[in-house]
Amino acid sequence: MKLISACLLGVKCTWSSDDKYKNDRAIGLSRVETLIPVCPEQLGGLTTPRVPQEVQGGTGEDVLNGKCKVINKNGEDVTKEFIRGAEETLKIVRQLNIKEFIGKSKSPSCGCGQIYDGTFSGRLINGDGVTIALLRRNGIRIIPEEDL
Ligand code: SF4
Repeated sequence: MKLISACLLGVKCTWSSDDKYKNDRAIGLSRVETLIPVCPEQLGGLTTPRVPQEVQGGTGEDVLNGKCKVINKNGEDVTKEFIRGAEETLKIVRQLNIKEFIGKSKSPSCGCGQIYDGTFSGRLINGDGVTIALLRRNGIRIIPEEDL
């Protein structure tokens, strides 16, 4: 049993409220093993659809350390919601004794290894999203969608 970014299974939880991040390999995997879909941004209390948001001036790890924030395209601070979503995801992981999480690439929440740089220009930096950073801290093995 693994946790997975819900949008990879075609759940319309994306900022634009569509299924554009659906991943056929993830859907195929869900037919042979139990995948629990979660959307940390929804768990953090953000609406769907919502304004796009990016980590500004750092990574998810920096957000957890209080060194930078998550800001949406309107300039609003959504750091609190991102941290709450990460904590709620960790709660589910612990409750179900899950050891692995399959993450959507580049997301400010679920991105593994690379995220957008905070300029809303499509540029990437090395680092994890907020939820992935918290899960790694707690010993969860992260599987990027590219590795499926
Ligand atoms: Fe939700 Fe994560 Fe998918 Fe973003 S990448 S829509 S937070 S599941």
